[in-house]
Amino acid sequence: MLNQTEKTIIHNAIRDIHDFPEPGIVFKDITTLLNNADAYGMLMTHLKTRYDQYNLDFIAGIDARGFIFGSALAQMLHVGFVPIRKKGKLPHSTVSESYDLEYGSDEVEMHVDAFRGKKGARVLLIDDLVATGGTAAAAVRLINRSHGECVEACFVLGLNFLEGQKKIEQLTPVYTLIGID
Ligand code: AMP
Repeated sequence: MLNQTEKTIIHNAIRDIHDFPEPGIVFKDITTLLNNADAYGMLMTHLKTRYDQYNLDFIAGIDARGFIFGSALAQMLHVGFVPIRKKGKLPHSTVSESYDLEYGSDEVEMHVDAFRGKKGARVLLIDDLVATGGTAAAAVRLINRSHGECVEACFVLGLNFLEGQKKIEQLTPVYTLIGID
């Protein structure tokens, strides 16, 4: 487990950018965590220790910052990495799931053969941040529809006031390192 001091070090390494990408939004900028080797290392060591026990087959990361944490962790655990991308980015045949936005909807996609034909593959889903939970819930549905078993959804940050974690908990266990009230 991370102690409070380590959590604070990781949290302090993430920068708030006000009014990005639009007025009223506080954007959580993880680039300042990534370029701080001590804090980033602390986070990744913690995730490796936690997920060593999970007997994972794959880690699926959400476009785009989930790719950074997910692929690093996949290599540390010696399991495969699977990108879950925004619509239209993946070159091979895909399965897709749509989800509602405040206005309209969006889609996430995964390659049909992402789990290399392994039925019941144990998959960890990872992203930097959960807000409304719409993206991650669609990603869990995608994994489960592709005959994978999403064993947990992991986020570095969770915006508690948007209650996205509750939405995802209906589909899979959720682990959020730092909750923001
Ligand atoms: P949601 O589907 O509402 O849970 O949105 C989650 C996705 O949007 C994640 O991939 C996040 O990286 C991104 N996101 C949403 N809100 C923020 C924020 N305030 N700061 C940084 N990223 C965000």
